[in-house]
Amino acid sequence: MADMAAKPLAAAAIAQLEADGVASLIGTVVNPAGLILAKTVPLRRMGSFAEPGLGASPVWHVFAIDQAGIVFSDSTGVVGDQRIRIDLSALRILGDGFAWAPGCFYAQDGSPDPFCTRGALLRMQDRLADAGLEALMGHEIEFVLVGADGSALPAHMWAQYGLAGVLEHEGFVRDVTAAATASGVAIEQFHPEYGVNQFEISLAPQPPVAAADHATLMRIIIGRVARNYGMRVSLSPVPFAGSVGSGAHQHFSLTRDGVPLFSGGDGAAGMTADGASAIAGVLSGLAEAQGMLSGSILSGLRMLPGHWSGAYACWGTENREAAVRFLPGGDANPYGANVEVKVIDPAANTYLAAAAILGLALDGIERNLPLPAEVAVDPSSLTDSGRADAGVTVLNTDQSAILDALDGSSRLRGLLGDEVVDAVVAVRRYEQENFSALSADELAEKFRLAWSV
Ligand code: GLU
Ligand code: MG
Repeated sequence: MADMAAKPLAAAAIAQLEADGVASLIGTVVNPAGLILAKTVPLRRMGSFAEPGLGASPVWHVFAIDQAGIVFSDSTGVVGDQRIRIDLSALRILGDGFAWAPGCFYAQDGSPDPFCTRGALLRMQDRLADAGLEALMGHEIEFVLVGADGSALPAHMWAQYGLAGVLEHEGFVRDVTAAATASGVAIEQFHPEYGVNQFEISLAPQPPVAAADHATLMRIIIGRVARNYGMRVSLSPVPFAGSVGSGAHQHFSLTRDGVPLFSGGDGAAGMTADGASAIAGVLSGLAEAQGMLSGSILSGLRMLPGHWSGAYACWGTENREAAVRFLPGGDANPYGANVEVKVIDPAANTYLAAAAILGLALDGIERNLPLPAEVAVDPSSLTDSGRADAGVTVLNTDQSAILDALDGSSRLRGLLGDEVVDAVVAVRRYEQENFSALSADELAEKFRLAWSV
């Protein structure tokens, strides 16, 4: 029956898209290493791409970041073929004859594939709904503009958050803004960042899967526009060793029956009891989830105090050194109170990072976890014993230890499924096994464009 329903829908959509000048459709999936993988079809094949989908080997889940590596296992090997089905309800027009849609993996019998990262977030969204909760998420995308070969661009005119950056790259800024508007992606703000030739784009809050889809689409948009200017976009957590890194912070808020959990309560910072437990859940699971949030071979180079990357495992109202920053509601925050998880970087799979965060929040609520006291100062300003008294630890920067924690986490395995946890651990261990002998400079250079599109 689904087949019968999908075909007339696709036919009507094809006619509309043709009228809009679309000739070709790009379908993407994001794999556990954070790589955006793609297949394209001529527009007339759109219905087939939606159902039954296009074939893809299970090894897509374990392609590594070095342009060649595949981490084979019993379930991700050379035998077998899956189907990628695009989600037509999320289709967007890119311009220049292209449309785009995100895809999910299915088995040939039509059952969802447990390795699918978008599927993991869909399941988490459903799980929240079953618990009577609704989440909104807003993504931040930080990136560094580089030359076509990944080399550093001149930055004679650059100040931290400076207007000079906007004017030096005004064509890029204008075209990205126009392309996002044309594709229906809501940019909240777009500005030069602290690092040289580094920018940030924040996206409007959306339901979790749509938010992650838009974060993916935004990467495609900035990649396409940068090319038109002879540049590329580095989505590495540390494009240049020794400079500030790039984050991929995720904001989230939760409501139950339309009532916010992070405001209107009598708990810390005005949270409800459930809101406090949600943050407690995230905080208590950070060390285990780090492999999924910032687990790449480069991620530890960014996770340093003083870099606003949230290197301290604590929470604090508007505290930019805390892994979890609380943004109170009120007139100055029109979307209402929300929580920013800062530890996530752009090497992470956006869907899995979101699923991990929401899963931990839900787990915190279900177990009524108590929220530790907030940290109202820069944790670096405390003495070691002051931090110990406040229960504040520095997050790990050692990839092996980070991956062991994820591998051994029955909590994340329970929340997300063994398959996605195993796949993330596998592709990240491959990085550790093959590249841990490289220096910071060599790593930054080698993987500067690894996540670029
Ligand atoms: N670039 C910082 C990071 O790596 C974040 C800066 C900010 O707070 O916007 O996460
Ligand atoms: Mg920023």
